Amino acid sequence: MIKFLDLQKINAQYATELKQAAAEVIDSGWYLQGERVRLFEANLENYIEVKHAIGVANGLDALRLILKAYIEMGIMQEGDEVIVPANTYIATILAITDNRLKPILVEPDINTYNLDISLVEKNISLRTRAIMVVHLYGHVCWNEELQTIAKRYNLKIIEDNAQAIGAIWNEKRTGSLGDSAGFSFYPGKNLGALGDGGAVTTNDNQLAEIIRAMSNYGSKQKYVNEYKGLNSRLDEIQAAFLDVKLKYLDAENLRRREIALFYCKNIRHPEIILPSYQNIKSSHVWHLFVIRTPFRDKLQKYLNDNNIQTIMHYPIPIHKQNAYKEFNNQSLPVTESVHNEVLSLPISSVMSDSEIEYIITTINNYKN
Ligand SMILES: *Cc1c(COP(=O)(O)O)cnc(C)c1O
Repeated sequence: MIKFLDLQKINAQYATELKQAAAEVIDSGWYLQGERVRLFEANLENYIEVKHAIGVANGLDALRLILKAYIEMGIMQEGDEVIVPANTYIATILAITDNRLKPILVEPDINTYNLDISLVEKNISLRTRAIMVVHLYGHVCWNEELQTIAKRYNLKIIEDNAQAIGAIWNEKRTGSLGDSAGFSFYPGKNLGALGDGGAVTTNDNQLAEIIRAMSNYGSKQKYVNEYKGLNSRLDEIQAAFLDVKLKYLDAENLRRREIALFYCKNIRHPEIILPSYQNIKSSHVWHLFVIRTPFRDKLQKYLNDNNIQTIMHYPIPIHKQNAYKEFNNQSLPVTESVHNEVLSLPISSVMSDSEIEYIITTINNYKN
């Protein structure tokens, strides 16, 4: 079976360094809020080219904390609206509703699967305070129009960068484009920890200071509590692992791109739509390679029968989930067709050329 994602193989590449890093943390006797987190934060700041990176417990918390801090700053309050793509992973939406803010679900562009920026302005109301863009599947969601709208209506732009670490728009990395950004280091992400992890990046000094305190019980000084905070810290051991893997991120992303371009060049099937990525200014780090076909379920079964594991990202849209009954009657036809038709093929730095060629041949031979 060609696995969708072989984490064992991915981390085996760095096993010596990872074991060394773990040993150092174990021997240090210091497991939270120490030197390793600070070092990783500094390296992430350099990599993204931002003033502040704050390690937190996971990607969901990164986004939750950003909104919580904006509420603390008086920039938004309960009931205010956040514009967000309807076809994102549920974490993006949970971060909004957890803060008693209202997600305004906007359709994606059917070609890029990213938020359709041309629909943003008509979804703005007097209560809109932010646009949360998601660089879905690793593809940058950004343009000048988005920046102009945000400026005109005085909206914060928050990037959900969970899937796109390393991507670039116009010479700037995602995570430095908006007012603030949330990162996830879930093991399967392009920069994956060996457990949970996340980070917030921003150039906003006040926001950074509040999030740093908020993520540690709302405290800047032990037992003195400034805010009603959370316990959402990045472990020293995960920071040490992430520092090892950050060095190899660009090489990993380059290999993903090589595979993606090879897929795009060689998959030829009249009923399969390949991902689009032709935007001169923006790059794609190919967290996922997502194809679309009306025969998705049949194709998935066929590939599985031929020992190729695939996954749907995602099978059920937010507005059809039981968790969000209040949105169940919304009509979002583009989102629904995306969820009915998308299928993600294996893509990762440890795949061999022959595995990729086998996947391509198998897909090209698919008959309905
Ligand atoms: C993974 C992911 C998250 C959440 O990250 P966790 O670390 O799993 O909490 C948020 N948004 C998107 C788009 C993601 O893919």
